Amino acid sequence: MNLVLKKADNDILRKQTIIDLGGVQIGEEFVVMAGPCSVESEEQVRKTAAGVKEAGAGVLRGGAYKPRTSPYSFQGLGEVGLEYLAAAGKKHHLPIITEVVDLRDIDLIAKYADILQIGARSMYNFPLLLELGKLKKPVMLKRGMNATIAEWLNAAEYILKNGNPNVILCERGIRTFETYTRNTLDLSAVVVAKKLTHLPVIVDPSHAAGRADLIEDLSLSAIMAGADGLIIEVHPNPPMALSDADQQLTIEEFAELMKKVKMTSDFYCKLK
Ligand code: PEP
Ligand code: MN
Repeated sequence: MNLVLKKADNDILRKQTIIDLGGVQIGEEFVVMAGPCSVESEEQVRKTAAGVKEAGAGVLRGGAYKPRTSPYSFQGLGEVGLEYLAAAGKKHHLPIITEVVDLRDIDLIAKYADILQIGARSMYNFPLLLELGKLKKPVMLKRGMNATIAEWLNAAEYILKNGNPNVILCERGIRTFETYTRNTLDLSAVVVAKKLTHLPVIVDPSHAAGRADLIEDLSLSAIMAGADGLIIEVHPNPPMALSDADQQLTIEEFAELMKKVKMTSDFYCKLK
């Protein structure tokens, strides 16, 4: 395993990285990010923001630039989507996270977003990683669906090396021979990333499972594996979602899940 971590290594910087979003501190407290896969309308994102905030989410998610497998699928609302997301976040006092797909959109997206997300399909986009390394804005790096742990941590190192210390890792499932789930959630990667690095690690059970009925158990398992938080897709009317309809929770389901998340993370804190 060719893994030389000059910045992310626990033994070099013996201090947990904390991403301070003013109100929520990722790496310090257990943080749940929630919201729709894609921003679809002003009303959809406003409703979701109100619901997830009430349920205890700390960050609002929503994609405005969508890296879809098919070029014929909904590609996101672009800047209008960023406006809707930012307005909903502001109204409900939630920092926002959204994905950057294209290097050329970084400045525009950074004007709106509190955290920039690098999607699984972009993890190997080294020019994008290096460019985000020039910012101070927090970046959440998703693990590529075919990436080894070493490749994922090396990708984080690209951002850190260029001067941005505010990196969050996100395990979102990898491609295996299994087809029952969309991907296979690799909880060992969470344990390893926590062991080797000082970076916060978030788990995305939504893209791992691809099915709403598995989100609860995977979320609670992620807490027990030592994750610093979760990112969960929530939609006011999942069957009508323009992307990832099968895996999004309703606002009510999310609120129920959050009760168990709170109990489990309190339990984990006592245990450690
Ligand atoms: C997303 O978070 O909306 C997304 C596209 O996820 P991933 O990059 O993990 O597939
Ligand atoms: Mn999605």
